[in-house]
Parts: sequence; C-alpha cells; structure tokens
Amino acid sequence: MVQEYITRNWAYPVAFRLNLNKARSGNLQAMDKEKERFLNLVNSFAEPPKAIITDSQAMDIMWRWVPDNINLTTFSIIMINYMSRGRLNLFVKGLEAFKRLKEEDKILIVEACNHSRIAEDIGTVQIPNYLQKRIPGITIEHNFGREFYDNDRIKEYKLIIHCGGCMITSQKLSARIRDLINIGVPFTNYGLVLSYMQGEEALKKVLKIWE
Ligand code: SF4
Repeated sequence: MVQEYITRNWAYPVAFRLNLNKARSGNLQAMDKEKERFLNLVNSFAEPPKAIITDSQAMDIMWRWVPDNINLTTFSIIMINYMSRGRLNLFVKGLEAFKRLKEEDKILIVEACNHSRIAEDIGTVQIPNYLQKRIPGITIEHNFGREFYDNDRIKEYKLIIHCGGCMITSQKLSARIRDLINIGVPFTNYGLVLSYMQGEEALKKVLKIWE
C-alpha cells in the first residue's frame, strides 16, 4: 500500500532488506559491514532520499543508522495515520500514559487481524517484554482480529496499544477511536511504542516528518 501510494504520487520507492541478525549480532565487524551495506545504498542516489520507512521492529537499529539529514518513520506509524485519516497526533498523545502506568494496571495490545506470528512477533513478544521490564508485574492482554472488545471491558485498561490497523476499514478504526475517547482510555500505536522504547531522541526522529 505504501509503495503504491508513493508511486501514485510520482515519487519512487526503493526497497532494501536489512539483515537484522547481523545488525544486532554484537559482532562489531558484522555490524559495521551491515551498516556499510545499508549506507552504501542510502548514499548512492544523486540526492538523499526524502524519507526512510522502516519496519517498526527495526527501530533499535534504524534510529542510530539513518543519517540525521534524512527523515525516518515506520510502516506502522504511516498506516495508523492513514487509516485514522490523519489523526496520528491522538496516538502520539497516548504515549503520555506511560508516565502514569503502575504495576497493578492492565494494558491491551490490539491487532486488527490474525496473521501468523513469528518468534520475535511485535505484539506477543517484543512489546510485552519491554513493558514487563519497565513495569514488572503489569498485566498485558491481547485483542486479535476485527472485533473489538466492548466499552465495559475496554474501561479496565490503562492503555491500548494498536497495530497499524491495515486490515480493518477507516470507519471501523474511527469507531474504535471515538469509543476510546468517549470512555477516556488512552491509546497509542506499535511504531510509536517501539520508537519510544528507544528513547526521546528516536521518538523525535520518527515524528519529525509529520510536523
Ligand atoms: S491489521 Fe495490519 S498492521 Fe495490524 S497486525 Fe494485521 S497486518 Fe499488522
């Protein structure tokens, strides 16, 4: 969808597969080599790319490797902005809830489809691991698929972390947003959380292009 959107707007996308195993290996030589392979592509154009869009789960690497003069954002952030019709700011605001979370609280991770999950799955492994480390004892639950829990149940959660929402319609996502605002439950998004996990600088970097 993103590539189609870019092409339709007369720009052109270039795809690159980062070897995350090498990038995270801890082996300095392998890491440098992978970084060099990435930067060789980035620097091979007559003009620097207007933006680099990464899989959100690679933010631990990408926010460090993407040169400061190039915008960086993630697919999940793009998708939630697109599907919510430009209301990314509401999801950014939801990150404030992190400052208030306590060990007895419950968080709901929401994925709008039932895709097959790999070992390092964002929703079931990466984000829960981070949350448990940050707030030991916090309860993390999941809502997978197109049906969303009803408001009485949603009220139990102190934060909703939503995927990019590409498998539901904008109307359906808007209805979720409306309900969450009405019942006063903060919500944010995978790409934003995975950037926030890397610190303020990384979050600032993925949001710059949306200013
Ligand atoms: S709905 Fe889209 S963004 Fe959400 S989990 Fe499924 S594929 Fe990923």
